[in-house]
Amino acid sequence: MNEKEILQAAMYNSYDVITHKRTIEDIEYDGMPVFVHFPDRGIDKTSLKVMVMYFIMAEEYEMCKDLTDEYELIFNEKMPSLLCQCDKPQYYLRDDDVIECEKCKTEVI
Ligand SMILES: [Zn+2]
Repeated sequence: MNEKEILQAAMYNSYDVITHKRTIEDIEYDGMPVFVHFPDRGIDKTSLKVMVMYFIMAEEYEMCKDLTDEYELIFNEKMPSLLCQCDKPQYYLRDDDVIECEKCKTEVI
């Protein structure tokens, strides 16, 4: 497995745990227990936003919606707007944990 595949596995595993589709034990049993977050500690805002961005770029919009719903449940606030106006946005994570579109410089989250 390369880095990209491990990241993908971590994204999907964390997604399953956060949205209660699988337990950590299920995932350990499947043999690939990698996560974006520390599953026994719960998810923090930044990690959750990074996950939503990941799934936006993967065009998994249904999964983005599930994670947005969880964000609002866990933190009791609205998920900030996640999209800029570009046709093909280039999102990246700045050092201060803000995700910005490289093209239009819009701060999305
Ligand atoms: Zn943009």
